[in-house]
Amino acid sequence: MKYRPFKKERIDPIDFPCKKEVYYTLEDAQMMIRHIEETRVTRKIRAYKCNVCGFWHLTSRAGKHD
Ligand SMILES: [Zn+2]
Repeated sequence: MKYRPFKKERIDPIDFPCKKEVYYTLEDAQMMIRHIEETRVTRKIRAYKCNVCGFWHLTSRAGKHD
């Protein structure tokens, strides 16, 4: 059986200032983080709320501040 990725919450980039993938909620972002961490070897990923678009993005940058 093929692995079925969960639906991504994509928003039309025309309406948004951010080119990054956008998540409506922290839960969506955390689900994506789990998905990425299960399927790839990657650095620790975390979600942050964007103060440009007001939605959530993911970053793999290690930040001490939040
Ligand atoms: Zn943004």
